[in-house]
Amino acid sequence: MVARDDVDRLRSSVRGLVLSPQDPGFDQARRVWNGMVDLTPALVVRVADADDVATVLALVRSRGLPLAVRGGGHSVAGNGTVADGVVIDLGALRSVEVSEADDATVRVGGGATLADVDAVTAPLGLAVPLGVVSQTGVGGFTLGGGMGWLTRAHGLAVDNLVDADVVTADGRRVRAADDPELLWGLRGGGGNFGVVTSFVFRAHPLGPEVYGANLVYTLPRWRTALRTWEAWTRELPDDLQSIVTVLAPPPELELGTEPVLIVGAAWAGPEAEDGERLVGELRSAAAPDVEESGLVPWTSWQSAMDDLFPRGSRAYWKNTSFDRLDDTVVDVLVRRGTEQTWQGTAMDIHHMGGAFARVPRDATPFPARDARFWLNVYGFWTDPADDTARTAFVRGVAADMVPFATGGTYVNFMGRAEDEGRAAAEQVYGREKLTRLVALKRRYDPGNVFQRNHNIPPE
Ligand SMILES: Cc1cc2nc3c(=O)[nH]c(=O)nc-3n(C[C@H](O)[C@H](O)[C@H](O)COP(=O)(O)OP(=O)(O)OC[C@H]3O[C@@H](n4cnc5c(N)ncnc54)[C@H](O)[C@@H]3O)c2cc1C
Repeated sequence: MVARDDVDRLRSSVRGLVLSPQDPGFDQARRVWNGMVDLTPALVVRVADADDVATVLALVRSRGLPLAVRGGGHSVAGNGTVADGVVIDLGALRSVEVSEADDATVRVGGGATLADVDAVTAPLGLAVPLGVVSQTGVGGFTLGGGMGWLTRAHGLAVDNLVDADVVTADGRRVRAADDPELLWGLRGGGGNFGVVTSFVFRAHPLGPEVYGANLVYTLPRWRTALRTWEAWTRELPDDLQSIVTVLAPPPELELGTEPVLIVGAAWAGPEAEDGERLVGELRSAAAPDVEESGLVPWTSWQSAMDDLFPRGSRAYWKNTSFDRLDDTVVDVLVRRGTEQTWQGTAMDIHHMGGAFARVPRDATPFPARDARFWLNVYGFWTDPADDTARTAFVRGVAADMVPFATGGTYVNFMGRAEDEGRAAAEQVYGREKLTRLVALKRRYDPGNVFQRNHNIPPE
């Protein structure tokens, strides 16, 4: 509960919108993408600027209220909302500006979606490395790392983050570029150090059209496809990004009802023919059953998967990095892929390497830069009756992959961890980086005001 007087004072001192449970629009405002996280905060404050953020933080601190910070609301763990506390909703801070002085940097509001950024940069033939579903928030996506179709060409989103405006737990405004250690922490340490009201990214020439391909394989061809894909990925230039997806296809894909394996590929280089030729090599070595490929506007490629993941989906995800894609690992993936006969829930294998791997190991908190592959098992479904079985399936696949894991976990591909705390954080970052993150946390948030996240405990 927040006292009536406090709510009135807050309403008169912020420019943004303060919603309490009695207000129209509150029910919509309290919800996040993961429908399983069905919580009722005491207040949702749709802030208008950094001053609003500082005002809300002052209230939260003085009353000891639980706090959630929301960018796009897509946290798989549901960290964008909180029971009986205050949500700082950054959804009104969605401006995207390409610098006129230097057209290779882009300033992005802390509540923008990936689509907001692409809509401004794509017509200029520029792109910031973002993710594969355009409704995702730039905020949480970036602060956790940020993987997508440009990871091999230009690194993670955090590898392209050059500055950020931050409101700290005690209400100070800080420019991350003025404190290299803070900037380091924001490059993968999540929302632990403050509220980012704007990010500045390096952008790269791209498109506006790119060559993209989806090669679809039915079950009898999965082993050949995976073995051929593994060999193919060994020689690829950085500009070719590929992600393998195993899923029971939704009707709109018109691929039948049996699980399929799809090799997706996008070419980020200047000559589309080069990407086409490389995909042709894979096609010749492992012929797909169905293929869709050609030039496509970058914004269409980036949003092609959006409808698969409606807001309100119930969700639980787990992930791991790994290096081997030999017969033993292929056996696991094929067995699990064939078990996964329902729509909603899929496995993605991201091909890493390239620019991602060239970032020095200690340049960011992000773990496992040497990993060749990253597996994301993403459960999403609609019926609450499926919660137990779907969650168990995701855990089962992750458990099967434990023997092949090369260390580190990606926070953004995690559901709510059962064991939040220092042990969970160490599993994500490793001991050395966690020690550095904890020292930074003690400087910027010793009271752990920002704890509704994949937390770095200050003690
Ligand atoms: C459908 C879907 C597709 C996805 N695809 C990808 C993908 O392709 N690649 C990838 O890497 N990840 C992907 N993700 C994971 C995604 O990166 C995370 O879920 C991320 O947390 C989403 O950010 P958000 O701002 O929408 O989340 P929110 O729920 O709003 O925020 C999550 C957490 O981030 C912090 N936070 C958010 N914004 C700010 C801010 N401005 N300042 C301070 N803290 C902030 C807070 O701690 C908050 O609790 C996907 C997730 C979904 C649901």
